[in-house]
Amino acid sequence: MTATLIDGKAIAEKVKAEVALRAAAFLAKHGRKPGLEVILVGDDPASHVYVKNKEASAGKAGLHGAVHRMPADTTQAALLEKVRELNAADHVDGILVQLPVPKHIDPLAIVDALDPSKDVDGLTPESAGRLWVGRKGLRPCTPHGCMRLLDETGVKLDGARAIVIGRSNLVGKPIAAMLLERNATVVLAHSRTKDLADRVREADVVIAAVGKAELVRGDWIQEGAVVIDVGINRTPEGKLIGDVEFAAAKERARAITPVPGGVGPMTIAMLLSNTVDAAEARAEMR
Ligand code: NAP
Repeated sequence: MTATLIDGKAIAEKVKAEVALRAAAFLAKHGRKPGLEVILVGDDPASHVYVKNKEASAGKAGLHGAVHRMPADTTQAALLEKVRELNAADHVDGILVQLPVPKHIDPLAIVDALDPSKDVDGLTPESAGRLWVGRKGLRPCTPHGCMRLLDETGVKLDGARAIVIGRSNLVGKPIAAMLLERNATVVLAHSRTKDLADRVREADVVIAAVGKAELVRGDWIQEGAVVIDVGINRTPEGKLIGDVEFAAAKERARAITPVPGGVGPMTIAMLLSNTVDAAEARAEMR
């Protein structure tokens, strides 16, 4: 079997087109665009590129987007003040503090200060708690994007055996919760998991979110399984590769995401989608 490639770029474009329609409807109904504002502290070049992309994508989809650039020596108190200012601003539906923040700032204190109704990154304990207890709420963008990829691929999750490798708060844990919410039977694996190859061999759905190049070998993949590779790793030659041995895995899987071009493009698309969700939920609350 040669796997179908799950085209994250095309699916992300579809999500963005849906966002644009919803944003236009929101504008017509409420007289303003859904608003996403990003806070960027310091001069990490990669963060500047990410933030520029987010701002441009927001504008393209008909959202209001703005970036608050703050110098690297910004104090934690000043950053908290900026978060509070955006919490209070009615035209702001989504707030994103680009991570990492400089070392003298505690990222947890910043996340804790976010108004959960504007937490479009889904990182606050309130958002995580809502996910685990099955309540409506804002879901972290990358896991949310992985679920959309599975749905677009037509994977039946009800009763499926799924393995998530990696248990970070950002990716692994929320994906496990989302799969459970959809009635998959979930194994959540991590660096202490014994017999990882055997656990992967039992899975109908494999989600790899580790950050170790080709950790998941192709011959671990069950014939006909669906594979979502979240990992981004750079080879010594400068090539980007995933956590799954792609060339061998695609000969066994039914469907698989490439790296790049799989999960990556979904993250910004889901951020925009979450912003419209937040705008609608806030408008409804009023
Ligand atoms: P992270 O916080 O470093 O977590 C990595 C996880 O992998 C940990 O839970 C760790 O286990 C586990 N792990 C490490 N070695 C392992 C091994 N040998 N076997 C099994 N599990 C192992 O990373 P993250 O933030 O979740 O990100 C994971 C990957 O996804 C990275 O490559 C990152 O760049 C990528 N990523 C991509 C996107 C995107 O948009 N495409 C977004 C976010 C992240 P322990 O908990 O036991 O240490």
